[in-house]
Amino acid sequence: MTDTIFGKIIRKEIPADILYEDDQCLAFRDIAPQAPTHFLVIPKKSIPKLADAGDRDEQLLGHLLIIARTIAAQEQLEKGYRVVINTSEDGGQTVDHLHIHVLGGRPLTWPPG
Ligand code: 5GP
Repeated sequence: MTDTIFGKIIRKEIPADILYEDDQCLAFRDIAPQAPTHFLVIPKKSIPKLADAGDRDEQLLGHLLIIARTIAAQEQLEKGYRVVINTSEDGGQTVDHLHIHVLGGRPLTWPPG
């Protein structure tokens, strides 16, 4: 588990609005939502960024997307949503623990900034 704010959330050392948890991952609402619905799905395994994921993580990465899809449906994002993985400096990553953003509840523009 990474020694980051997300590691602390996984270990329940700091609170979060948790939407889902299993042995592989945790999903919780973003503390600074950029859309009416904005949650994060993170692996419990210590993977700092997508570039650090290995071939052996194929099942885990798929699981994170399946959970993202399942929670998006629970959050009633029938009109659509965006899934984002910011990676490293140019990708705008600020927390060094792999996380999937799911944003929805309003039309999202493209391209991103
Ligand atoms: P990144 O910029 O790394 O892709 O996204 C990190 C996200 O984590 C940001 O959207 C930020 O608002 C969120 N975040 C940072 N600290 C916390 C926290 O303590 N709790 C929660 N729930 N979200 C956080």
